[in-house]
This record gives sequence, C-alpha cells and structure tokens, in this order.
Amino acid sequence: MKLNKGNIEDLKELLATPKKIGIVSHRNPDGDAIGSSLGLFHYLSRLGHDATVAVPSDYPRFLNFLPGVKYVLVHDRDAEKAEKLFEEADIIFCLDFNALSRIDKLGEVIRAQSVPKVLVDHHLEPEDFAEFSLSETSASSTCELIYHLIDLLQDTQKVDEIIGTCLYTGILTDTGSFKYSTSPKLFHVAAALLETGVKDNELQNQLFNSQTIKQIRILGFALTRGMRLYPEYRTGLIMLSKHEFKRFNIQRGDTEGIVNYLLKMYRIRTAVLITEQNNIVKLSFRSKGNISVQEIASAHFNGGGHKNASGGSSKASFEETVKYFESLLPKYKDKLLVED
Ligand code: 5GP
Ligand code: MN
Repeated sequence: MKLNKGNIEDLKELLATPKKIGIVSHRNPDGDAIGSSLGLFHYLSRLGHDATVAVPSDYPRFLNFLPGVKYVLVHDRDAEKAEKLFEEADIIFCLDFNALSRIDKLGEVIRAQSVPKVLVDHHLEPEDFAEFSLSETSASSTCELIYHLIDLLQDTQKVDEIIGTCLYTGILTDTGSFKYSTSPKLFHVAAALLETGVKDNELQNQLFNSQTIKQIRILGFALTRGMRLYPEYRTGLIMLSKHEFKRFNIQRGDTEGIVNYLLKMYRIRTAVLITEQNNIVKLSFRSKGNISVQEIASAHFNGGGHKNASGGSSKASFEETVKYFESLLPKYKDKLLVED
C-alpha cells in the first residue's frame, strides 16, 4: 500500500517536530469515524503532538467506552472551539469521508486553511482537496487504513492496546464483525491489533451486545409494522416516521444496524431504511453482491458511500420520499435483479 497523493517521507518530516493537529471525521460519526480519529489521536499524541478530534455532530452512546472519546469536540455543541481548532492547526487530518461538503461548516473552515491536509478514507469518488491522500476504496474501513498509514511511517511498534482498541472498533463496525469487505490484508492488520492486547470478545460485547430494551422494541416495530417488501425487485424497506421517533424516544444510534435485518432474507438483495428526522429525511442503503446502492444514493438522494453501503437524504416530506423511492424501483429493475 502507498499514498495515492503526496510523499510519505514529506509527511514523516512534517510529523518529526511537535505540531498542533486537527483531526476531523464525518457528520453522524459511526464506529469507524470515531475509532479511526481516536486511534490516530492517540498515535499522534504518543509522538508528542498536540492533537484534537472534532466532528460535526454527536456520536452514538455505544461508543462512550472508547478511550479519549470524551475529549472529542462536537461542532453542533461547541462550534467556536471546533472551528478554532482547524483555524489554528498546523496539519489537518480528514478521516472516513470523501468530500468537504460531508462535514458542513467545518468543511468551509478547513477548505480556507492553507496548511497541509491529509485524507485517509475508503469511500467512492474522493474529492481532491488534500496534499496527502491515502484513499483506498477496497479497504474495509478507515481504521484499517490508519494502521497502514502508521506502517508506511514505519512506526507500527507504537501501536498499543489503546490505539488497537480504537482501530479494531472501526474494523468491527464497518465490516459487521468481518462479514463485509474482508481481505487477507485486513486479517493481517486484525492479527497485529490483537497482538497489542485488544480484547476481541469484550469489545464485541461492548459494541454489539449492549443494546437497551428500547432499541430492541424499536427493532421489533421496524420488522413488523415498519416494513414493506417488494419481492419483484428483491428489495425491502423499513420506515420510521417522526411519530415513531416520538413514541419510542429514538435517539442517535438507536436505529444503527436495523437496515441489515432486511438482508437476512434470502430473497432480499437491496435494503433501505428511511427515517424522518428533524428537518430532513435520511436514507440508509445496503445491498448484497453486484448491486450498487451508491449509484442510487448519489443519483437521487444527494448521497453516496460504498457500493454495498450508502446513505443519502431528502428535503421532501417523509411520505413523498417513500413514494419517490418506490417510483425508482421499476426504473432500476434490471440493476436490482442483476446476478453476481
Ligand atoms: P449509514 O447508512 O450507516 O448512515 O451510511 C452508510 C455509508 O454511507 C457510510 O459509509 C456513510 O459515510 C455513507 N453516507 C451516509 N450518509 C451519507 C450522505 O448523506 N452522503 C454521502 N455522500 N455519504 C453518506
Ligand atoms: Mn468507514
């Protein structure tokens, strides 16, 4: 693996003396966004840098256990501090997103800075805004790429259990515990992280077996009253309206993973979760095999992501968005029914 853009020796030299470093990841940060940011934060701190992580919006509760997460700045809560971080930074690391528009106001602030920027990401169609870039769409996760970056810096001996726990978290969440986007390279990284002392089973329980009864009830609702199937398109939909958000008191992270349940059905190959959030309708797409949900998310819902996992949004009403999605199915029939 090598940088797609920029010279690793130049980056090494930049990091050879203590710097003020801003690390940013995407809105609605997930395990990979927070895990990669914190993994890099701990690594850079070990090198003697003054590093800080900021994200546009809050992270879900299930990540509260991650070492250092309480120092993460959240722009929605603390705009001034978060913006100041990047205005004063000597280097800016952009992790797990492919375009500055994905981080809202922070994107504008960062675009205006002339200091070196480093992009580490695995999403399709990366924007070319950074001086250094490690952008690898075949990588399982940004966490895997952070390990490769540290390897390129010939510094993996500094990866300890704390850094390992952060990086292993994003690998587990983005691959669904090694179900999606695996490779021999990923398992080498996973092995190296386990060797640092990462407690795999304990971590998996923290991440995947720590749900509240509320979350299980939301899932129950989603799979019964909230679900629609379109067998002729091998597609499934789960809808959660404002009414359900109120009824169940749905909070950030409570709907995480629900969309994957649709794909458990052998006939279903494309899945979407449509949620009516404050001022916006969010869509979360997943697919199996050769179906690209990235194409649908970017063409119709101002979104993108990966071939088999993408997201987007709509400014239309919840009902209109559902209807619009349904109207697309006949148009995408050939693509939805494509064989592997
Ligand atoms: P999720 O469905 O879990 O929110 O997101 C799945 C994938 O799609 C993630 O890699 C995420 O970064 C990406 N994604 C989610 N929402 C958006 C969006 O609104 N725009 C773009 N470009 N990507 C998104
Ligand atoms: Mn990711």
